[in-house]
Amino acid sequence: MLGIGIGIGIGLGRRVPPPPKVTFDLLENGLDFITSAVKIINQKSDNKRMKYALLHLSSGIELILKEILMLHDWRFLFHDIKDARPELIQTGDFESVRFWKAINRLGSECKVRFSEDEKKTLTELKLKRNKIEHFRINETVSSITSLSSRVLNILIRIINEQIDLKKISPLSRKLIKELPRELSGFNSFVTERNRIIKKEYDIQISRGKINLLCPSCLQQKFFIDSALSCIFCNYTNEPEIIASELVKISPEIKMAEKKKCEKCNTIAVIQVGEKDVCLKCINKNGNSV
Ligand SMILES: [Zn+2]
Ligand SMILES: [Zn+2]
Repeated sequence: MLGIGIGIGIGLGRRVPPPPKVTFDLLENGLDFITSAVKIINQKSDNKRMKYALLHLSSGIELILKEILMLHDWRFLFHDIKDARPELIQTGDFESVRFWKAINRLGSECKVRFSEDEKKTLTELKLKRNKIEHFRINETVSSITSLSSRVLNILIRIINEQIDLKKISPLSRKLIKELPRELSGFNSFVTERNRIIKKEYDIQISRGKINLLCPSCLQQKFFIDSALSCIFCNYTNEPEIIASELVKISPEIKMAEKKKCEKCNTIAVIQVGEKDVCLKCINKNGNSV
């Protein structure tokens, strides 16, 4: 494995040739598969239908990992880098990087690390997927939902770390934006996610930070602090937009009487309890409430 990493590094050097002009979107396709998997799980399907959740989840994560590889260098899409030619990308007539090689390449070339636990989860996903493809499925609904929960948590981390929402297509942005809502109906995902973020949540609460209902995933995990984001689904936005969204979903939160902040001149002041808080100033200055 080490040999592959070193080989690629030396072979490619630092200069990346410009990407070929193609109009396919791995991320859109990947997100489409993921959304479909979550919908199947949320419909409380039987294990005959649940096999599609696993198949779609597996295809989805594979496409998204390939998108990240492509963001670093389009040649990483090829299983064998020396076969990389722009015209082949256009026709799609090439052997694309296989799953484990993609994982290793992400680590060695793109600094996308996977913990041992995450690798175990991905191994389990691949094993189950192959079983479905080649033999018959013999998995319980609960084992599939539990595995899916763990896979989705890996996916959320990777999207948050690697995908710049400003640089993706409107459809991908829409799919990423809608995913948390779908996920909040997925009970075992919610339990698993809360377990993962518990430590951070407890720290924030012990520091006296205020947490509100998140406009995106509807979990009470949106913290009013400099990050101005939800630790459950990583949602964030412009302070003005967040202010109006928070007011819409929580009856106890109101726009302050003077909506416009005297310091920054932005309409982003909300009333939290007795206090008026400007989300823009908090976001900029890193103050806590
Ligand atoms: Zn959220
Ligand atoms: Zn302000």
